Amino acid sequence: MTRILIVEDEERIVSFLEKGLRSNGYSTVAVGDGDSAVALARDDSFDLMILDLGLPGLDGRDVLRAVRSRGERLPILVLTARDGVEDTVGSLEQGADDYVTKPFRFEELLARIRLRTRSDGAAAETTVLSVGRVQLDLRSRRATNAERTVELTAREFALLETFMRHPGHVLSREQLLSHVWGYDFDPGSNVVDVYVRYLRRKLGEGTIETVRGMGYRMSD
Ligand code: CA
Repeated sequence: MTRILIVEDEERIVSFLEKGLRSNGYSTVAVGDGDSAVALARDDSFDLMILDLGLPGLDGRDVLRAVRSRGERLPILVLTARDGVEDTVGSLEQGADDYVTKPFRFEELLARIRLRTRSDGAAAETTVLSVGRVQLDLRSRRATNAERTVELTAREFALLETFMRHPGHVLSREQLLSHVWGYDFDPGSNVVDVYVRYLRRKLGEGTIETVRGMGYRMSD
């Protein structure tokens, strides 16, 4: 199992990350300050570190410096603020492998994580998902239904991908919102229902079931 160290002081982002990563089969440990991060970030304990730059005590850049100067080589994915271009460049120079700008969508982060952890014996990345008659090619970004191409917007594609990565599972509106729209989205929004309707219109009414009081499910 791939082990991820989360270094983030904002509670709602920590819980967003932990829920999402665990439901995708990762094991996680979260700490909220730089000193604990430096103490825990060892190659033989973790496969990857997600590191927020703005932390109490030692900040993210201090953590990077300390961990890299000790010779740890685990991939480090930095979380930066939208306007923090200098932070981003600086952290890559100090040994970060990649970065994601806040606010981010979960799927975006997950794609980066998969890219960075693939070589360490993790299962090869699937490139074509298939549920019933629907197929999704993640490389060419192409969707087909009974071998006919279906045109999807980027958001529809991300939503369908989330369903197809969890075939037969009931996904709540909240899970779908955080996976596809990100943690900054209003939980009272009906945008999920609207997009499920779009997908049904394009793929057939029966493709995605409503599970009353719980959410939605896609099964074959
Ligand atoms: Ca922070």
